[in-house]
Amino acid sequence: MFRPAIRQCTRPLATSLKPNCMASRAYASAGSVKFDWQDPLDSKSLLTEEELAISETAERYCQERMLPRVLQAYRDENYDAAILSEMGELGLLGANLDGYGCAGASTVASGLITRAVERVDSGYRSGMSVQSSLVMGGIHTFGTAEQKDKFLPGMAQGKLLGAFGLTEPNHGSDPGSMETTARPHPTKKGYLLLSGSKTWITNSPIADVLMIWAKLQETGKIRGFLVERKDCPPGTLETPAIKNKNGLRASITGMIHLDDCPVPEAHMFPDVEGLTGPFTCLNSARYGIALGTMGALEDCIERTRTYAMERKQFKNNPIAKYQLVQKKLADAATDAAYGTLAAIQVGRLKDEGKATPEMISMIKRQNCDRALWNARVLQEVFGGNAVSDEYGIGRHVANLFVTQTYEGQSDIHSLILGRAITGLQAFV
Ligand SMILES: Cc1cc2nc3c(=O)[nH]c(=O)nc-3n(C[C@H](O)[C@H](O)[C@H](O)COP(=O)(O)OP(=O)(O)OC[C@H]3O[C@@H](n4cnc5c(N)ncnc54)[C@H](O)[C@@H]3O)c2cc1C
Repeated sequence: MFRPAIRQCTRPLATSLKPNCMASRAYASAGSVKFDWQDPLDSKSLLTEEELAISETAERYCQERMLPRVLQAYRDENYDAAILSEMGELGLLGANLDGYGCAGASTVASGLITRAVERVDSGYRSGMSVQSSLVMGGIHTFGTAEQKDKFLPGMAQGKLLGAFGLTEPNHGSDPGSMETTARPHPTKKGYLLLSGSKTWITNSPIADVLMIWAKLQETGKIRGFLVERKDCPPGTLETPAIKNKNGLRASITGMIHLDDCPVPEAHMFPDVEGLTGPFTCLNSARYGIALGTMGALEDCIERTRTYAMERKQFKNNPIAKYQLVQKKLADAATDAAYGTLAAIQVGRLKDEGKATPEMISMIKRQNCDRALWNARVLQEVFGGNAVSDEYGIGRHVANLFVTQTYEGQSDIHSLILGRAITGLQAFV
């Protein structure tokens, strides 16, 4: 008597039938494969050995060195800048860049680093993303040979800290309307004067080099400038911290006030004009956010699972036994697994030169939205204890609101996707 699976496999193997045979065999052996709730769709199997090694290094550093500091840092609203030099020592900064002391790893590897950091805290990841993707990435892509030689090695070691100044008090989602200007210095040849204000700038109070986007007065076009704090005369550069945030408290955020701040022309990016410059930097950072937020969500899942197994209500049952609690965990684990796979796919396409900005918008928007939504729902499982910062879940929820807001608020990414789908521009 024929058993269907065997009959299919013993037929002459036309190429088109091969996959069927293999599928039958794979299905038959599925019983021996164990479901891993921490990596439900086996994303690890898509990673190279180098990526796995980088991920392990980053995870170990983050769990052993960052995690013990985060609760107090969040309470005190204090960012320990030593974190960036520690990450520099491990080669985790600008990891996907080539040369200048950077690791030259894949885009996916850089995303695995952001995931490890954000598993601890989105604020720590923000400080690192600004350094690695926005500033180092921008200099690497648009800088002159001199600019790269001058800034990148120190930044890769975390000895020179960067900030990225695009957002202004009156222009956030619409940076093209920025008011900051660069005009020729009236007396000093080869210098420009920058004037204007930037706000909500990660790292600005502690940055040594500030990447400022401003309109060149002569052309009205946006250009990028590298402002070195040490060279700014008193009163021309102020970077006050914005205190009393209710999210991202373990990162430092501030303003940038420029008042006729002299900058050498040699510190202007030579070729890039308009929004292409800042948006290219943002694309790279948004990729890191897409995988990073999956780290925060995975930490929420792990904390919730542990809590639900230990907390007992009604007839001494662990609350993890109740269907409503299990559904919350199932939703969150599914979104984390899907989001991770999507980000790995886009990372691969990016390295092959096949990723579009819309793909980045899609994963940034989806992963931030789902991480925030699920974290909020999982928070319910902690009952009153969710209000205590020692359980960590409330910190992630507050942080994830910010990730959904910065680097293009989710609705703005909807408009980018809507424009690509319909061909119609909804920004007015
Ligand atoms: C902690 C933190 C760190 C940050 N770090 C940096 C940094 O390092 N560098 C930097 O340059 N910026 C940084 N930002 C700024 C961030 O990128 C901006 O807050 C973000 O771009 C949104 O701009 P906005 O706050 O001015 O909001 P707005 O632009 O005023 O938007 C408010 C709301 O209106 C909606 N909206 C706006 N326009 C439209 C439209 N056309 N259609 C539909 N809805 C619309 C938005 O989606 C949003 O929901 C940071 C922000 C925070 C909170």
